[in-house]
Amino acid sequence: MTTAPADYAIVPSSHPRTTAQRTAALERLSFGVEFTDHMARATWTPEEGWQGHRVEAFAPLELSPAAAVLHYAQEIFEGLKAYRHADGSVWAFRPEANARRFAASARRLAMPELPEEDFLASISALVDTDLEWVPSTEGASLYLRPFMIATEPFLGVRPAQRYEYLVIASPVGPYFVNGFQPVSIWVAQDYHRAGPGGTGHAKFGGNYAASLLPQQRANAQGFDQVCFLDAATRTNLEELGGMNVFVVDEDGVVHTPALTGTILEGVTRSSILTLLTEEGLEVRERDIPLTWLLDGVRDGSVREVFACGTAAVITPIGRLAGESFDVTVGDGAAGPVTSRLFDRLTDIQFGRAQDPHDWMRRL
Ligand code: PMP
Repeated sequence: MTTAPADYAIVPSSHPRTTAQRTAALERLSFGVEFTDHMARATWTPEEGWQGHRVEAFAPLELSPAAAVLHYAQEIFEGLKAYRHADGSVWAFRPEANARRFAASARRLAMPELPEEDFLASISALVDTDLEWVPSTEGASLYLRPFMIATEPFLGVRPAQRYEYLVIASPVGPYFVNGFQPVSIWVAQDYHRAGPGGTGHAKFGGNYAASLLPQQRANAQGFDQVCFLDAATRTNLEELGGMNVFVVDEDGVVHTPALTGTILEGVTRSSILTLLTEEGLEVRERDIPLTWLLDGVRDGSVREVFACGTAAVITPIGRLAGESFDVTVGDGAAGPVTSRLFDRLTDIQFGRAQDPHDWMRRL
């Protein structure tokens, strides 16, 4: 047994995939179906705090059927990527931001916070162990999924007294099968993802469970994704099931829903705000009424709408529909601001451009 930085003990898998198996897996990438040979983990108890930090073989978990997560859904997660640069080095994009958001999600779900250094060390230790799983093909990366579950076997409704933190990793190609192609959005007017005082700002599994039915209905009608409106007034855009949303108007002003507590603060969102401000573009974080958006799309004063998140980076939205409307944004193709932001962000992530904001962390 060897010890990685910040004391993640490395217990190598006794049955890693062969080079041929790994190469075959890396040649047929989609999103989140293949996993690397290892996972990182640590355990929390009230007596000992976080302990047992280690990287070990990726394997099924042993869990009591009474584990609290299975009943009351105490579960939070994160999503970030490791990118291979042309010189072979491997980098993460703003992992500290994910560490901070993970801690914020833990607070909202009455779970113990994992120290930022532990979060960062778990990523480094796992990626270092499974380095050969980081793809080098265009647009591909290693998606990292840190998560925490309540494992205490107890059926009372209260915060659990035992938690497991894990990180698994999945080599991924581009998120949308069509690549950088505009997507169609169904605006849900009768389902909401989060309400005031709820868990919308946390990366909490239950938020995603709540979004599945509207997403399924949208898919059945031929739409790619759902956009949710705020539950309090049912008039303002919030976000998609897994992405934040931006609107570009005819004056080049960029609008995005303000963080009101019901929206997840995306790392991509915040990076885009920084890039736009740096370009000298005006950015407005504000309420965005659906009626304002539809009027703007119809009269041409809204030029571009796009969504953003770690998995898909930036995705143009070409069509917006709901119970009583169906509109095409611009000519339905990706606009110039959307395309430029995609290039700027992915150039930084893949090491093709300078990183003036010191966003990349070598793993
Ligand atoms: N909103 C939701 C609901 C999400 O799940 C995600 C993905 N984490 C995002 C926005 C985008 O966040 P990020 O840019 O940090 O991936």
